[in-house]
Amino acid sequence: MLIIGGGCAGMTTAARLQQLLRTELRSGDTEITVVEPQPYLTYQPLLAEVAAGSIDPRHVVVPLRRALPDCRVLTARVTRIDHATKRAWVDAAPRGELRLPTEIPYDVLVVAPGAVSRTVPVPGLAEHGLGFGTVGEAVSLRNHVLEQLDLASTTRDPELRQAALTFVFVGAGYAGVGALAELEDMARYAVKGFHNLTTDDLRWVLVEATDRILPEESVELAAHTLAQLRDRAVDVRLSTKLESAADRLMVLSDGSRFAARTLVWTAGVRPAPVLRLTDLPLDAESRVPCLPTLQVATADGTVLPDAWAAGDCAAVPDPTRDGDPCAPNAQHALAQAALLAENLVAVLTGRPLTEYRPGPAACSTSLGLRKAVAHTRSGNRVTGRRAWWLHRARHLRRLPSTDRRIRVLTDWLLGGLFSREVVTLGAVEHPRAEFEAGFTENRIPGARPES
Ligand SMILES: Cc1cc2nc3c(=O)[nH]c(=O)nc-3n(C[C@H](O)[C@H](O)[C@H](O)COP(=O)(O)OP(=O)(O)OC[C@H]3O[C@@H](n4cnc5c(N)ncnc54)[C@H](O)[C@@H]3O)c2cc1C
Repeated sequence: MLIIGGGCAGMTTAARLQQLLRTELRSGDTEITVVEPQPYLTYQPLLAEVAAGSIDPRHVVVPLRRALPDCRVLTARVTRIDHATKRAWVDAAPRGELRLPTEIPYDVLVVAPGAVSRTVPVPGLAEHGLGFGTVGEAVSLRNHVLEQLDLASTTRDPELRQAALTFVFVGAGYAGVGALAELEDMARYAVKGFHNLTTDDLRWVLVEATDRILPEESVELAAHTLAQLRDRAVDVRLSTKLESAADRLMVLSDGSRFAARTLVWTAGVRPAPVLRLTDLPLDAESRVPCLPTLQVATADGTVLPDAWAAGDCAAVPDPTRDGDPCAPNAQHALAQAALLAENLVAVLTGRPLTEYRPGPAACSTSLGLRKAVAHTRSGNRVTGRRAWWLHRARHLRRLPSTDRRIRVLTDWLLGGLFSREVVTLGAVEHPRAEFEAGFTENRIPGARPES
């Protein structure tokens, strides 16, 4: 069996198959290969808390080889799949520079490469934009925001100061709302340590092209979150687009223009590009169409033998949304993956298959330290600390590793005992800078020669 992607869906499928097929795996009758470019799963719903410093970055990743001891884990990227002949090609080089990808034959294919950030050709975006989907990006954004406070406090140039204190997030899905809310909360706390900055100096702008935020969540939760953000003076611009970011000057479609040194691009996701390098059927959004059993199917509903899919890359009908595909979220990815593994084994053992029927969604979003909004399954609204603990409890339960759950819980408990850590470690991103400076500083014009 070949599993493409070791994220929420891919790793959960592999872990469940590992339990269900323990004997076959140990005897060598069955072999499961998981291909994932990173040697770990990243639990993205907790990345905003990594950026805010509430969770250690290593605690939101789950090492695949430790979690899947009975599977073969390849740290590589799938570059092509030919399901007609049941072969895939993988490239182990980090940036695809290997010219001879390795061929892997398989019997059963599980497709779970998730989604990637949707980028558009906005002038200046490639040069100045920051992404928010990986642990590296979360840590880097935290350092960047704290560096802007240092810069604003030090400079005597009022324009530079204002640009440093203006933070623009484009896209109001999980990533944009979560990252903005957590970082705004952290920056509010951090400015208390500066003699010449106040919270009123900070400007946070959330730009969203559609007329609502959090499209992955219920309309009620989205409206509730919007009200909370506006209460905190976050400038939320709905039905507005970023038209240019050239020279760090933000030009919005509502006619406003202002300088900002922080631009975070979180404007939606699209299915992983590798899907277009396969002979699998794809729908109009380039997702893999699936039956409610998680089997890949063609447009007329014919099952593609031995091909399964789950998570953000799959269009799985959601009966609670009149059969529209499930929203791309971790709740669906994890639940679909567990069912996919059960159904795959059911096919092997000749048992009937079960359809994916998600219940009413329990939704929540964290908006900073001790701040969140949440709705229970029965639709009741919960706010403040209760919502925050509910949100944390949900993600703690979903985090696919007991070891990581304990570590994250420990981070949270320690965070409750000590004050927030708001020091920037931006220098670790350029470890050679100091060393290299040693070679150039003697050549600075006007510097006295070393004795
Ligand atoms: C910042 C952020 C915050 C979020 N917050 C929430 C939240 O609060 N609640 C919620 O429910 N959801 C949230 N989500 C969405 C949630 O994380 C995703 O819906 C979920 O991770 C989807 O699982 P997946 O397995 O389909 O994809 P992923 O978990 O992204 O896993 C896909 C994996 O496939 C790998 N891959 C990609 N291409 C290839 C290839 N060619 N070959 C091999 N492997 C490949 C990737 O490296 C990745 O590890 C958030 C997402 C982000 C980015």
